[in-house]
Amino acid sequence: MTVHVLVLSGIFENFTLMTRIYFLNNRLICVSSLFPQEVDVDGRVRLVMESALTARDRVGVQDFVLLENYNSEAAFIENLRRRFKENLIYTYIGSVLVSVNPYKELEIYSKQQMERYRGVSFYEISPHIYSVSDNTYRAMKTSRKDQCILISGESGAGKTEASKKILLYYAVTCPTNDRMAALGDRLLQSNPVLEAFGNAKTLRNDNSSRFGKYMDVQFDFRGVPVGGHILNYLLEKSRVVHQNPGERNFHIFYQLLNGGDEMLLKTLYLEKNPHNYNYLAKGNCPRVSSINDKNDWKVVMKALSVIGFTEEEVQKLLSIISGVLHLGNIQFGEGEEGETYITTETQIANLTELLGVDGSALTEALTHKKLTAKGEEVMISPLNFEQAMSARDALAKAVYGRTFNWLVEKINQSLALKEEIYHSSKSSSVIGLLDIYGFEVLQHNSFEQFCINYCNEKLQQLFIELTLRSEQEEYETEGIAWETVQYFDNKIICDLIEEKHKGIISILDEECLRPGETGDLSFLEKLEDTLGGHPHFVTHKLANGKTRRVMSREEFRLLHYAGEVNYNVKGFVDKNNDLLNRNLKEVMCQSDNQILSHCFHREEVMDQKRPEMAATQFKNSLMKLMEILMSKEPSYVRCIKPNDAKQPGRFDEVLVRHQVKYLGLMENLRVRRAGFAYRRHFEAFLQRYKPLCPETWPNWHGRLADGVSTLINHLGYKPEEYKLGRSKIFIRFPKTLFTTEDALEAKN
Ligand code: ADP
Ligand code: MG
Repeated sequence: MTVHVLVLSGIFENFTLMTRIYFLNNRLICVSSLFPQEVDVDGRVRLVMESALTARDRVGVQDFVLLENYNSEAAFIENLRRRFKENLIYTYIGSVLVSVNPYKELEIYSKQQMERYRGVSFYEISPHIYSVSDNTYRAMKTSRKDQCILISGESGAGKTEASKKILLYYAVTCPTNDRMAALGDRLLQSNPVLEAFGNAKTLRNDNSSRFGKYMDVQFDFRGVPVGGHILNYLLEKSRVVHQNPGERNFHIFYQLLNGGDEMLLKTLYLEKNPHNYNYLAKGNCPRVSSINDKNDWKVVMKALSVIGFTEEEVQKLLSIISGVLHLGNIQFGEGEEGETYITTETQIANLTELLGVDGSALTEALTHKKLTAKGEEVMISPLNFEQAMSARDALAKAVYGRTFNWLVEKINQSLALKEEIYHSSKSSSVIGLLDIYGFEVLQHNSFEQFCINYCNEKLQQLFIELTLRSEQEEYETEGIAWETVQYFDNKIICDLIEEKHKGIISILDEECLRPGETGDLSFLEKLEDTLGGHPHFVTHKLANGKTRRVMSREEFRLLHYAGEVNYNVKGFVDKNNDLLNRNLKEVMCQSDNQILSHCFHREEVMDQKRPEMAATQFKNSLMKLMEILMSKEPSYVRCIKPNDAKQPGRFDEVLVRHQVKYLGLMENLRVRRAGFAYRRHFEAFLQRYKPLCPETWPNWHGRLADGVSTLINHLGYKPEEYKLGRSKIFIRFPKTLFTTEDALEAKN
């Protein structure tokens, strides 16, 4: 709706200025004779041509391939911005969905909305996460091929929300039967549980997932969801023992303290106030306005029971959670000879009970290290104060991390495809959902960011391969000549990180196995020696002062596909080692808490072989993930965070531009637009535009391809503007399509 508000006039540098101001969908649009412009509510002024104020300009194009200037980043961002201001948070690049976090509840996720999107093709309806969900589902059903939806974006961009919406869409709209009805519930309820244990409040997101998640939903041949399976990646365990100012530990700790009743807290020897626990006090942020820990506690307890955790299992689980808090409160004293002893006896007594371990063995293991020299010989050496503190923290991290894995395992058992269904349904297909950390550049980047960004390099590699592959395949099936697309292949960076023997991960492993004098700095030196000439690797020494941004001597810089990141090597060796002293493992193996005895195997202690190191483990799990994804037909959801303040209505262009860059959206658009902006099946094209041609209207009786030919001849398309494939028409420029669209609009 356009409301004509007022007409202003005045003199401006010898020109008479006539300005009309419209109030249009919450925006002021000033159209003056001199400067047609749009004034945002936030005061920014933009130039627009009055004559061009069509619907398309107001709300932008719903598919970026229709942008006139598809090489212009500015045009891309402007389109996003316009749509965002109109609460149109979704836009396509072909079939890739770009989503901007609205930071407010929009009325677009109701059941009625779900119904609108059922069985409807992409281009027939406005872009939506439901459309991606529905198209993926139908593609799975008709082609019988496994599908996956890859959701990416930086922390707080809306990935987890998107994955929940997809799951809910399937739970609501897919057919089900009596036997499977409960499965949908369990699938949905796995979210609050995993979020309680794997999410935390960070500066960027009040509900930030601190682990990567890939979830398969299995469907039988009728499209009934019959099972699910979750793979989890690299939980940020360091958060258990340390949080930065303004951040919290994992939600579950606060939920337990706020929501647990007095009796429960008493049996766990807990007090309500988070400040009493070292592991909760570091971030100095026990409460978050957007989070209701007490309510969430109830939701999580309910979810655990829906999924099928027994009361006893829940109780063991909570014993472990409180055990972690008590571990954090263990304090050490230093004797005259430098020996370390524990000063907090009550904590040990509590832990004995909560973790079901032997108190004196635990005390000894926290203050001494057991070394096996040459086979049998065992030596006990005392730990100094620092070592004892880190042994304690290592235990807390290991206990929490392994318990998290146990949780996932249990959830998987509950979602498992039942044998009899598997056999009766014979062919079942899956839709995989990947909700994994996006590219991360913090003030201070460490081992975790290194792993996360490596993961994003791999995903980008997959994206390039699959997008190009699918474009190429489409051209081939349609019998249209392939036109080469220039793009940056980031394989060189993946190799830099993961190559055997000379990649960064190998060098780090080498440093952990044969440590140099100066630990992390020796690692940095080895990197410099091996990777000196690599075009994507820089350090202070290698750069000879030539780098644009100052680097410290403890950093190395990687030139990622998405931009430069400096990594500080401090802590790399320890984090990669992820060592837990052997005697601590022994203590945990003997726990009579079944969850712990399940998590700490006897064989692990007996095994003399060193387990894989953290980065290598992560690398291997990523390789497997890539294999899984490669075997599926991908769809993409690219999430963008509009501002850092987590506020509705604010669109920070600088921030958005960054994300557009490192999500590779411009590249994506270029690939998609390399040949043809627009393509449609003959039938759909004819259906939509046949009113424009008397020969095809109202019904066309010949071959579809002939109908389309007749139609475009009538419309006057020039040969260079389009190509006809076997089943689709390919249109090279958006302008051609717009002209046709405008003609259709004029006719209606
Ligand atoms: P990510 O998983 O990418 O880190 P989340 O999905 O947790 O980010 O989103 C962060 C927050 O942003 C959510 O807690 C929610 O408040 C808000 N949000 C994200 N997507 C939407 C949406 N589609 N509608 C409304 N709010 C959203
Ligand atoms: Mg998340």
